[in-house]
Amino acid sequence: MKRYSVFAVAREALRHHTGWGRAWRAAEPKKKYDVVIVGAGGHGLATAYYLGKNHGITNVAILEKGWLGGGNTGRNTTIVRSNYLQDPSAAIYEKARSLYEDLSQDLNYNIMFSPRGVMMLAQTQHEIRGYKRTAHANALQGVSTEYVTPDRVKELCPIINISGPRYPVLGALWQARGGTARHDAVAWGYARACSDMGMDIIQQCEVTAVRSENGTVKGVDTTKGPIDCAKLGMVVAGHSGVLADMAGFRLPIESVALQALVSEPIKPCLDVVVMANTVHGYMSQSDKGEMVIGGGADGYNNYTQRGSFHHIEETVRALVETFPMVSRLKMLRQWGGIVDMTGDRSPILSKTPLTGAFINCGWGTGGFKSIPGSGWGMAELMATGHSSLTKAFSLDRFAEGRFIDESVAAGVAH
Ligand SMILES: Cc1cc2nc3c(=O)[nH]c(=O)nc-3n(C[C@H](O)[C@H](O)[C@H](O)COP(=O)(O)OP(=O)(O)OC[C@H]3O[C@@H](n4cnc5c(N)ncnc54)[C@H](O)[C@@H]3O)c2cc1C
Repeated sequence: MKRYSVFAVAREALRHHTGWGRAWRAAEPKKKYDVVIVGAGGHGLATAYYLGKNHGITNVAILEKGWLGGGNTGRNTTIVRSNYLQDPSAAIYEKARSLYEDLSQDLNYNIMFSPRGVMMLAQTQHEIRGYKRTAHANALQGVSTEYVTPDRVKELCPIINISGPRYPVLGALWQARGGTARHDAVAWGYARACSDMGMDIIQQCEVTAVRSENGTVKGVDTTKGPIDCAKLGMVVAGHSGVLADMAGFRLPIESVALQALVSEPIKPCLDVVVMANTVHGYMSQSDKGEMVIGGGADGYNNYTQRGSFHHIEETVRALVETFPMVSRLKMLRQWGGIVDMTGDRSPILSKTPLTGAFINCGWGTGGFKSIPGSGWGMAELMATGHSSLTKAFSLDRFAEGRFIDESVAAGVAH
């Protein structure tokens, strides 16, 4: 792999950028791998990367039915934070956030991590209590957050209306080292590093069946033929129920569409991420100047990968109330992704009833921020059979009633 550096950029500038190679190889499947990962989204790629980097397992194939990063990883609004309430959540999300801090250096790929600060507005008495409780929990967990006053909110975000008629801003939970990162770059950076370790990334390769013998996984059937493997990682977000069905077990998961939209680009006016859970909308400004806007998930199950009009209306109405200047902006485009929601709004990183098969799913509306931590823990689980990061997120918690309730932290999500 050619390392990216200031010298490489200067050299290529001098020769009209003719010397850049492909970032990753276009591989064809081999007959057998030690590990097959299904799904080349952020979580699948990060799992493969840390299998190689931390555990020396590089005979790995990553199978993707579409194109790399074309699922939710390339469709999200890129918010990174770790201000969750429960200890296992804070541990995995904070691990991820801290890995994001120097992921560009680690991958030698600029993922444009921007720790610009994330604020979650408190607009009801209930939210004040909830966010103060989270701030106290975060202090005990070693996650740096604070509860701030409305004046401080206005100072951090001058374009906000803190005295709206319906829901005035009463305070906020502020995480100064939260922020955003470039979503595609996270997938591309991991893919490049995996390919460099000799792993095969195979796009346009849909898994159509999971093969097993005596309760142990043997391989998968794909649109490019059968592939054998000793271990299988299923990391397919909104299609997890479909994959689990192929592997012969059921998941407590629902798939729904979640959508986002961006405005026309405007001059810089918002340098933090603002989430308004009560009115149901959130906004940040991209480096291109577009306002990146999101809201709630569809209220019914579907696999449509596009948004619905009533949500656009609802989300924009919420934002106009919070940021009156939005009312004069034109919206450029809108899209959707299929997110995988569990009942307790926490993910599943687990062994499965099929020996040798593992599942990583249930990140719902908020799994971009956790990609590095999830990959780290999932790789450890697959390589060694145990990970302190993933232990609490096992499938059996639903049978045993050990829920990790994050329905408040994941309220509007993200
Ligand atoms: C509109 C929107 C906004 C969001 N905003 C945020 C946010 O601000 N912050 C945040 O943290 N999270 C956010 N999320 C959630 C986040 O995007 C996801 O949790 C995360 O990207 C999931 O990553 P993944 O790798 O698990 O899934 P994906 O990126 O969806 O990857 C799964 C891959 O599996 C492939 N696949 C499926 N079935 C098969 C098969 N049979 N064979 C082979 N391949 C298959 C798919 O094609 C897909 O590429 C948002 C999501 C959406 C939709």
